[in-house]
Amino acid sequence: MAPSRTRMRSRPGTGASSERAPRVGFVSLGCPKALVDSERILTQLRAEGYEVAPTYEAADVVVVNTCGFIDAAVDESLDAIGEALEHNGRVIVTGCLGARPERILERHPRVLKVTGPHAYEDVVSAVHEHLPPRHEPFFDLLPPQGVRLTPRHYAYLKIAEGCNNKCSFCIIPAMRGRLASRRIDEVLREAERLVASGVKELLVISQDTSAYGADIRYAPGAWRGASYRTRFIDLARGLAQLGAWVRLHYVYPYPHVDEVIPLMAARGVLPYLDVPFQHGSASVLKRMRRPAHSENTLARIRAWRAQCPDLTLRSTFIVGFPGETDSEFAQLLAWLDEAQLDRVGCFKYSPVEGAAANALPDHVAPQLQEERYARFMERAAAISRRRLAQRVGRHMRVLVDAVQDGTATARSEADAPQIDGVVRIENPGKLRAGDWAEVRIVAADDYDLTGQISPQTCRGIS
Ligand code: SF4
Repeated sequence: MAPSRTRMRSRPGTGASSERAPRVGFVSLGCPKALVDSERILTQLRAEGYEVAPTYEAADVVVVNTCGFIDAAVDESLDAIGEALEHNGRVIVTGCLGARPERILERHPRVLKVTGPHAYEDVVSAVHEHLPPRHEPFFDLLPPQGVRLTPRHYAYLKIAEGCNNKCSFCIIPAMRGRLASRRIDEVLREAERLVASGVKELLVISQDTSAYGADIRYAPGAWRGASYRTRFIDLARGLAQLGAWVRLHYVYPYPHVDEVIPLMAARGVLPYLDVPFQHGSASVLKRMRRPAHSENTLARIRAWRAQCPDLTLRSTFIVGFPGETDSEFAQLLAWLDEAQLDRVGCFKYSPVEGAAANALPDHVAPQLQEERYARFMERAAAISRRRLAQRVGRHMRVLVDAVQDGTATARSEADAPQIDGVVRIENPGKLRAGDWAEVRIVAADDYDLTGQISPQTCRGIS
């Protein structure tokens, strides 16, 4: 969950006018889940007639959606609030860090209001309080799919809030609360609207996608005349009806996840699983209190690949967790060699205020963490390089994200936006962002591929 940021620009503005619609500036920090929160808040505000301002100075008030996942993200959030105060002065704060208002008010006592995570109504009320809506809202300006901060051709689909797990390094359950799943029919209807509006790729997110529906006893729902239950496999089967790329994020290696693999082999959903394994040593996983920590993950991966050889596995890891011994770290490297994951991210463990792991003994010295991080990343890069080299010469379908300076940046079914590699296409001709293309892979490096356009490519093939 690498923090990302949707920034505002700073430039001299013309000032607010009582003739025009009230304008809200928005800074969105953090993971895709926070981005979806931002989209919901903006959708509501647009529905009420607010406009979104592109610069601090053009905004009548600025909302900063913060991240509090790790200490570096807290610092970035506090800096962003300071920047908004400096350039605009009227700032409302929401998001994960809003669960700890004292941290914010201590450094920035001038903020107008602090609201917590998953509190859309509170943010919208705070905006009403400090910037009342116009009497006649432009309801018809709101596109039916809502307001999105992602490019038009892909969208995050948030299926649940909160988490019932108790990972010892994480405070998200304390900040976001217990698992609260959205009903299957509501999620499938939203996905349908997104696809109808031009979205070609749906990225399913939540804190624990494999636990979807457990909190509402897998409640039944109807969609397109068929019955579904609010559960992982029904979600995948429903989304497979839409003809879009469907990518599943934050899935834990529970036995019931096996059910989705045949659907991936048949390309109902993309053969891509984002499974945050976090470590390869059973004793470290136990100290981390990871969900499914007792599962034999290597056996599970072998079985998945036997059924779906093209499966791309993405994961994140933490090195230097408290008490991690040389032997446990060696187990992690051996696990990685065996698992041969395609895409790997890594964090050096850092304490987060309020996390249970802070109290564990034998914290690993920063220099040793650094060494382990470098060794881990070197090993992961070598695996990635080998696996990508095997794709040279293959033909694949890609989705173009951007075209700039004579090169298109696209993604294959193995690449999630922002976090994985890309396929670069030289001489992209008339390709534009959001187009499909057929390419032949001609080169590979550690993380990315280079492709040449195949003759059958044409704009908008589906
Ligand atoms: S699964 Fe673990 S790391 Fe993820 S949100 Fe829940 S408690 Fe945090």
